[in-house]
Amino acid sequence: MTIPDVRVYEHLMPAPPTGQSPVPVQANPRAYERPAAQAAPATPATAPQSTPPRGAGGFDPEAARRDVPVLHRTVNGHPLVWLDNGATTQKPRQVVEALAAYYSAANSNIHRGAHTMAREATETYEAGRAAVADFLGAESPDTVVFTRGTTEAINLVAQTWGRANIGPGDEILVPRLEHHSNIVPWQLLAKEKRARLIPVPLLADGSIDQAAFADLLSFRTQLVAVSQASNVLGTVPPVKQMAALAHRYGAKVLVDGAQAVAHFPVDVRELGADFYVFSGHKLFAPTGIGALYGRPELLEGMPPWQGGGNMIDQVDFTGSTYAPVPHRFEAGTGHISGVAGLLSAINWLTGFDREAVAAYEQGLLAYAEQALGAVPGLEILGSAPGRIAVLTFTLAGHDPADIAHRLDRDGIAVRAGHHCAQPSLRHYGVESAARASLALYNTGEDVDRLVASLLRMTQGAT
Ligand code: PLP
Repeated sequence: MTIPDVRVYEHLMPAPPTGQSPVPVQANPRAYERPAAQAAPATPATAPQSTPPRGAGGFDPEAARRDVPVLHRTVNGHPLVWLDNGATTQKPRQVVEALAAYYSAANSNIHRGAHTMAREATETYEAGRAAVADFLGAESPDTVVFTRGTTEAINLVAQTWGRANIGPGDEILVPRLEHHSNIVPWQLLAKEKRARLIPVPLLADGSIDQAAFADLLSFRTQLVAVSQASNVLGTVPPVKQMAALAHRYGAKVLVDGAQAVAHFPVDVRELGADFYVFSGHKLFAPTGIGALYGRPELLEGMPPWQGGGNMIDQVDFTGSTYAPVPHRFEAGTGHISGVAGLLSAINWLTGFDREAVAAYEQGLLAYAEQALGAVPGLEILGSAPGRIAVLTFTLAGHDPADIAHRLDRDGIAVRAGHHCAQPSLRHYGVESAARASLALYNTGEDVDRLVASLLRMTQGAT
């Protein structure tokens, strides 16, 4: 890896390359295993029928693939097929280099130091905040609070805004398709405040029952917490309409964007989100960094959450005063290098035509749905229109954990289990399923490898 010989904040702030890698990425960058050429070929038992999308809609996935070194390694003797993007995405070399550059050239704590490197690190950190605000269409950088990720951001809202605004008899509406991160914090809050957590039912295709949602809303509803894309069913609910309806009752709306941000452009103000949360690691950025967006007047009115350094104005044993928003919610030393990585990831992703990326992913989803249809006994959970490219499935006679294990032997990474969304699986009467979740760097060939491997499984091949 080449460490840029520029000051890190200069390296991070310019406009990004548009997915074109100036440095050719070496195949199999670390020789973990046998090179792909020596691997047993994973030939399809029956070739999928339709043509895989390639470069459709003006986006070429190879441009993204070239930037992501890990996609060029092998696993168990096969070229890696990474279909576990719902759990976490792989990192472009620009992000990896931003982290290395930060620690090699510019490591410093922020906001306190009087020296050059403290100032540079602060500039990088605040440039990251501005980039997130821009990425989300937020009013200003001051509406962005850095967190460890989606989970921490939701807990922050529950324990600050929630504790201050939810009381006995109040209601919190949460659709059944939510990730546990968007259920349990509200359950804890409801228990503490003697409020009610009310599940919003789903329809057979995995979309939210909008008629039931409208019926459940009332002036007791204080909050609607809904994801913009489901991590299991792929459902993309009509969040804008739901928010508009919720606002008529004076309810606030928290939108979990964990699975949305990597797939399509987001505009929190257009959406009508009062709070919006996401995790960097699902957006090609490092783990341990994420963000909470809050409408300015809501953040202003919220009490602090964690106490400590960075979040105060004055401290005395008689009492303390607090820093302005958003610093009031960022106690302690933040994940500065994570912000540098997040900034780089946002620059990388927005260097592509995002509408074209979304169109490409939709083409890939349609291709994958059709190709998986050729696998006897395979059932995809969720068929709501406009889904993101998430394919959660069961395969008759095969345990999901066994499916994931067998695919792994062919170098294909999928996830199996409850996907931290047990109520949404139970909607389909299952406790566990396998999930292939796609990103912009996946291709029709990846889907073909998945289908071929599943077909061999159904044919009893070992
Ligand atoms: N919400 C959704 C929809 C998710 O898919 C996930 C993770 O899979 C989360 C929340 C939790 O994200 P994190 O573990 O990064 O906090």
